Amino acid sequence: MYAERLRETLPAVRERIARARERAGSGREVALVAVTKGHPAEAVCAAIDAGLHEIGENRVHELESKISALGRAAARWHLIGHLQRNKVRRALPLFDVLQSVDSLRLARELSKEAVRSARRVSMLVQINTSGEASKGGFEDRAVDAVARIAELEALGVAGLMTMAPLTGDEATLRGCFAAARRIFEQCAARVDGFEPKYLSMGMSNDFEIAIEEGSTMVRLGTVLFGERER
Ligand SMILES: *Cc1c(COP(=O)(O)O)cnc(C)c1O
Repeated sequence: MYAERLRETLPAVRERIARARERAGSGREVALVAVTKGHPAEAVCAAIDAGLHEIGENRVHELESKISALGRAAARWHLIGHLQRNKVRRALPLFDVLQSVDSLRLARELSKEAVRSARRVSMLVQINTSGEASKGGFEDRAVDAVARIAELEALGVAGLMTMAPLTGDEATLRGCFAAARRIFEQCAARVDGFEPKYLSMGMSNDFEIAIEEGSTMVRLGTVLFGERER
């Protein structure tokens, strides 16, 4: 069922990404993370078969169950949801990229655990551009926060991630994405050790606007796999 669905949705999504890239006019590549949360392991299998090797999950236990079904090496796993500090040790072996580093305390815990397990952790710092309390991430003095995180041992800061509010209001969406992009550019110019690789922004309802505003990584679930079970 998922294989069939992707045969329809993926070409259309790729086309929409290509068009948005043209409008952005920067020539930048846009990576696609297939967000499989709320869908069974079968969805991940279908995604991998369709050539999507970057897989996003937002919960540690769901990531664990997908990995036990498919194997750690089956995909490049992105953890995109809030990570509690007491789950860092459990989560660290599971993901390739943690997209949601939303506090200095979490970053310190990650660093400590990465040193302990002789690993290097690739991560993105989450920026709260919507001002919504329900969303995580740094709001004020984000560039300073990124600088402090980038100093920590065994952490590689490969960019930023943000989530826009759930709205159809284009000006609001553009404002959020443009704000993240400004912070990204400031980090690239001023922060030692910041690798300006991924500006992860754009979900099913706003990815084209995000790309127009400079996204280099979109995280798509619904538009690829359909609605999730609640
Ligand atoms: C669920 C989720 C997505 C994907 O959302 P869709 O609207 O289904 O595309 C992307 N990013 C994060 C952080 C998410 O939690």
